[in-house]
Amino acid sequence: MSYIVQGDTGDWEVVIGLEVHAQVASQAKLFSGSPTAFGADPNSQVSLVDAAMPGMLPVINAYCVEQAVKTGLGLNAQINKISVFERKNYFYPDLPQGYQISQYLHPVVGEGIVTVDLADGTTRDIGIERLHMEQDAGKSMHDQDPKRSMIDLNRAGVCLMEIVTKPDIRSPEEAGAFVRKLRSILRYLGTCDGNMEQGSMRADVNVSVRKVGEEGFRTRAEIKNVNSVRFIMQAIEIEAERQVEVHESGGDVVQETRLMDPNKGETRSMRAKEFAHDYRYFPDPDLLPLELTDDFIEGIRATLPELPDDKKQRFMDDMGLSAKDATTLVADRESAEYFEAVAAKHDAKKAANWVTNDLFGALNKAGLSIADSPISAEHLSKLLTLMDDGTISGKIAKDVFEIMWETSGDPEKIVEEKGLKQITDTGAIEAAVDQIIADNPGQADEVRGGNDKAIGWFVGQVMKATQGKANPQQVNQLLRDKLKG
Ligand code: ADP
Ligand code: MG
Repeated sequence: MSYIVQGDTGDWEVVIGLEVHAQVASQAKLFSGSPTAFGADPNSQVSLVDAAMPGMLPVINAYCVEQAVKTGLGLNAQINKISVFERKNYFYPDLPQGYQISQYLHPVVGEGIVTVDLADGTTRDIGIERLHMEQDAGKSMHDQDPKRSMIDLNRAGVCLMEIVTKPDIRSPEEAGAFVRKLRSILRYLGTCDGNMEQGSMRADVNVSVRKVGEEGFRTRAEIKNVNSVRFIMQAIEIEAERQVEVHESGGDVVQETRLMDPNKGETRSMRAKEFAHDYRYFPDPDLLPLELTDDFIEGIRATLPELPDDKKQRFMDDMGLSAKDATTLVADRESAEYFEAVAAKHDAKKAANWVTNDLFGALNKAGLSIADSPISAEHLSKLLTLMDDGTISGKIAKDVFEIMWETSGDPEKIVEEKGLKQITDTGAIEAAVDQIIADNPGQADEVRGGNDKAIGWFVGQVMKATQGKANPQQVNQLLRDKLKG
């Protein structure tokens, strides 16, 4: 679905390209052995290399390279067997080297594709332009001292992957779906933890607008360092609106870097956009070009897990799930594993129903993730078994589910202790049926007179009398036998 901004002069569409910075999951930095744990005391994870002491030499971390290649393979992308680290020169207090080691003309990963899943069940392919490795910078802290700013270099030198899309995205919804899908793939791969709140993933959002039907793109502005899916979507809406106004009032959108202020609901100019030549890129003389062998690449390919798109296809083709359920279940690896554990012993559609509706509903309401679910896959599977073998009815199962949610208890024990077993003893059900018929002669006559709807009413009464424990099919049959037989 296309996203349109209505202006005074007609309809405008928005064009978006994202540059996502994803922190590589690695215990050590890209060119030093310093640790990378989140939340450590300031400057407690800084080596002489990270602090850029004179004469220090970078030594590449092979694991980071593996992680970048693995990510490239997960994005269906070209792996470049030769790539080059270059110095990107700029001054900033949190960058003691005076340059960032990055890849520029020859990135380790080239073009790829990410398929995003949209709310209406359709998918769209978004092109990946490139993925390159680079060092993160440190962090300036302005709230530690009234007069001075402080620098924390813990992040300095941490390996980032910059993943750049083609300008293929056309709406805030697609941008959000892209980031969620990318995060899901990175988490499946184990190459980035995807924790946006901790800064492990953040995006620069490039936005331009053009008249619907117009060829080519107009000038874009870039909104820097947006750190949540919601803010990314919001930044696009705000920026598209602003640019339409600029164009319509006869002005020019300038290529610049902007910052978003989510509180004010606006973006504001931060600096004129710098161009590549401003950075005086050149190959880092301390580092050889990175050469990868086929064996290295194929060795990594052999370790790839089943990724969400393949899993989704398998859930649809082999298990008969709908696209919607399959998409929901594969969104994260833990959910998919949970579902598969339940579906191992049960009808897949039934398992999907319980997991996506009952379990995810309860988790969402409580703000919990699947890893924190009070109901284990094993227990949910047992609950379905109790229904399948007729020990409890579907209605009672819902009640047992509630108790399992509260207590993390074993459904077999709950059913036993609370006496919730379905009454299959025909004698007991028959007694209840007879009683209800005797108490309600008027209704009974209606059924006898051919009103089948009234049977439903009787079933309800009998179920009530037996606290939901009678087998509904049996009740139905008995009523028919007695009233119509
Ligand atoms: P830079 O590195 O200078 O920011 P790139 O050429 O790498 O520039 O592009 C950065 C991002 O901007 C890419 O994601 C690209 O898809 C996007 N982009 C390029 N042109 C446009 C445009 N006219 N409108 C929206 N996005 C664009
Ligand atoms: Mg950019």
